[in-house]
Amino acid sequence: MMKNNNIDFIVPKREFGNTGIQISKLCLGGGSFGDTDSQIILDEALKHGVNCWEIVSFTGKVYCEYFKKNPGIRENVFLSGKVYSTDPIVMQEQLNILLKENEISFIDFLAIHIVDDTKVLTNDVRKWVEKVKKEKKIRFFGFCTHKNMDTCLNSASKLGWIDGIQTFYNYRMQRIKSMEDALQKCHEKGIGIFAVKSMGFSVQKKTENQKLPSKEKLDSLLTADHISFEQLKLRAIWQNPFLTSICSLMPNSAILQSNVLAAMDENPVKSEIVTVLAAYANATGKYFCRRCGICETANTDRIPIFNIMEMLMYSRGYGITDMVARMFARLPSQIQRKIASSDYSGAEKICPQKMPITKLMKEAYLELHKE
Ligand code: SF4
Repeated sequence: MMKNNNIDFIVPKREFGNTGIQISKLCLGGGSFGDTDSQIILDEALKHGVNCWEIVSFTGKVYCEYFKKNPGIRENVFLSGKVYSTDPIVMQEQLNILLKENEISFIDFLAIHIVDDTKVLTNDVRKWVEKVKKEKKIRFFGFCTHKNMDTCLNSASKLGWIDGIQTFYNYRMQRIKSMEDALQKCHEKGIGIFAVKSMGFSVQKKTENQKLPSKEKLDSLLTADHISFEQLKLRAIWQNPFLTSICSLMPNSAILQSNVLAAMDENPVKSEIVTVLAAYANATGKYFCRRCGICETANTDRIPIFNIMEMLMYSRGYGITDMVARMFARLPSQIQRKIASSDYSGAEKICPQKMPITKLMKEAYLELHKE
């Protein structure tokens, strides 16, 4: 564990696209604040050079309180925030609320949450962005993408007015050429990239993948190298120079410090570890949803397969069961009734990950459906 008074433990920075702004390659996720004293986490983040902080809908007053207690800090931090609409009138309202709630006059990076088709980035949106930039309410603009990411990144790279993108990305996605190519294109066009969901959780039960030979081998190599699986996952992502920063949930000091240490080690991951990580990704690939969304075109009952896979990932990977149960309960009852019995054979044929969709949909129904 690092010593807090050691000033050398500083996370390296990368340029955010071609904005000329250097931000830490580790970004403090907006959902990091729970039971631990948020002000202590922020103190520690800054001490280690984590100058990039995310605001989400449930971040609360955390940053606002910190800026009040620490005058002059706001200007040293790169703040990202979100709006949840592509209607300029609603975007304006939401931006105003974001600024008011956080008691700030501008946001550094404003993103539309969630975009899975860049057609929604209309001329009206572009004009609104130009207006709020002129008013100095935002510095940079972009969107978050959690589905169909490679296509979104590709088309965004051609628009010419997108400064940054927050995208689902992890060591598993690094094996998909279209994703890597799209990230490179964005980089060439000066678009900064934040990675989210960096742990690459699958929908496999944890007790099952622990028994895999590749996992056992990986665990023993990581122990010998004194790094954790989580640190390896982050380091694998940072090997991609086209990515600016990883937005990570760091709800306590231990996770923050572990991530800081991973960020500081800029050596390439050992080739033996890379090989076994690839073997592990292969062995568990059929339980990883790459969020392409194509399965939904092959199910006549219109079951939102992608959304249910995502719920299963949150439940099994992150252990967020209550929120997931609420998400599941919001599915229309006629859809819920068909989830366990629908025909997914067509979807299974075209799923690029060869996921056992029928089995997983049945399990999801049993696990997530509450009477
Ligand atoms: S086709 Fe497979 S990988 Fe793609 S969204 Fe559907 S389940 Fe996920």
